[in-house]
Amino acid sequence: MATDAERPPFPTHPDALALLGTLWAAGHGGYLVGGGVRDALLGLPVSDWDIATDARPERILGIFPGSSYQNRFGTVLARGLEITTFRRDHRYADHRRPDTVTFSQDIFEDLARRDLTINAIAWGRRGPEAGAHLVDPADGQGDLEARLVRAVGDPARRFDEDALRLLRAVRIAAKLDFTIEPMTRSAMVAHAADVEWVSEERIGSEIRSMLTAPGPSRAIRLMAETGILATTLPELEALPGPRLQRSLATLDIAATMHPGAERLALATLLGELEPDTARGLLLRLRLSVREAETVAALIAAAAAPYPGTWAEADIRRYMGTVPSELLPELLQLRALRAEAVRAEDDEAPAREAELAERVRQQQAASAPLTLAALAIDGRDLRETLGLPEGPIIGSILERLLSDVIEDPSLNTRTTLLMRASLVLDGLMQQHAGAAGPVRPPIR
Ligand code: ATP
Ligand code: MG
Repeated sequence: MATDAERPPFPTHPDALALLGTLWAAGHGGYLVGGGVRDALLGLPVSDWDIATDARPERILGIFPGSSYQNRFGTVLARGLEITTFRRDHRYADHRRPDTVTFSQDIFEDLARRDLTINAIAWGRRGPEAGAHLVDPADGQGDLEARLVRAVGDPARRFDEDALRLLRAVRIAAKLDFTIEPMTRSAMVAHAADVEWVSEERIGSEIRSMLTAPGPSRAIRLMAETGILATTLPELEALPGPRLQRSLATLDIAATMHPGAERLALATLLGELEPDTARGLLLRLRLSVREAETVAALIAAAAAPYPGTWAEADIRRYMGTVPSELLPELLQLRALRAEAVRAEDDEAPAREAELAERVRQQQAASAPLTLAALAIDGRDLRETLGLPEGPIIGSILERLLSDVIEDPSLNTRTTLLMRASLVLDGLMQQHAGAAGPVRPPIR
């Protein structure tokens, strides 16, 4: 176990210290590294601690009963924490992954292969004898102090090796509100097009985590300034400036009012695109079809202006344009956009609040909005009017629904069956002369 004197100069989780203590007692070097050390030194909460050691993966498995391989690169998961053997990376033929990984005995080599100076700080012991200390060969602490994102070593080479680092640098700079150090930034500009080597799925997960961090517009702006946006989200890059600015303003308000709400963040960021374009973009980034459809549906529905002159039936008709479970998010999205345009239209927020209130009233009255809410269904039409299966049933139900949305008091079985019969007569007349369906007798 770590003694009191062996506590790091930042808050840690007791489990992480206990794990280190076990490694040390087993005769190995062991260090806390990476994003956990970075965030803890900044006084931010840490959710994942990464541990690095000279012990080989098989040996780690032996030291920690019940541990298992986390991935095929030999990272071991022990008591919920990731333990990785020191390594040096080799050639990166595809600008993305090292061709081979060689284990190392040296914490300095392990820190040298890391992407950013602020991610290359370690705290721990070389072995059972040595005292614990911070290891910071790239002066990551200096950069934490200066609030700078800087590549470890030659930035051009580091981005050339692995293009994912471009997105990581943007995400971490945006999340911490750090400046990108000028040499690192020029290397990012020079290598921006290399992002095409990163899988769409990986780009998607980086962008999603940028959007759910504080101040997400910073990330999109950094991508635009460095040229990364043109490769990753060309649809946004193509938007006229003021429309992109409006999306970003809405996105930041979403991050403040609904922190971590990913779907809302996506709908605000993509809110100025055509719904089909947004859907295509999200599918490309490997969001599920369902999620992509949902975001596109929110964008489409939020585009309808609410003039304040809508009758109650118009409110119900509007509510029927999205599945009822999406209504709360649709109203949130509308409210966010109204907030973002407050400077040009200071009545927008009040108008949207009124719409939300009127929607709530309809919900409280359980207003029927969908076919499922009708007092009769297709079977009733077949059995009572003797209609055959077919599209005519659907047309009659749609027609009845539109009547019920206009006047919810019509939604009773007797009334609807009577009206169905009238609707059918109407349809028959329309078809009269043509070889349409012959009206079956009413039973
Ligand atoms: P966060 O977990 O907050 O997203 P992180 O920096 O901890 O950020 P991880 O993906 O957890 O990111 O990676 C842990 C550490 O591994 C990083 O801090 C960095 O030292 C190193 N690392 C991760 N990805 C790369 C990479 N592509 N190139 C070089 N080093 C990397
Ligand atoms: Mg991490």
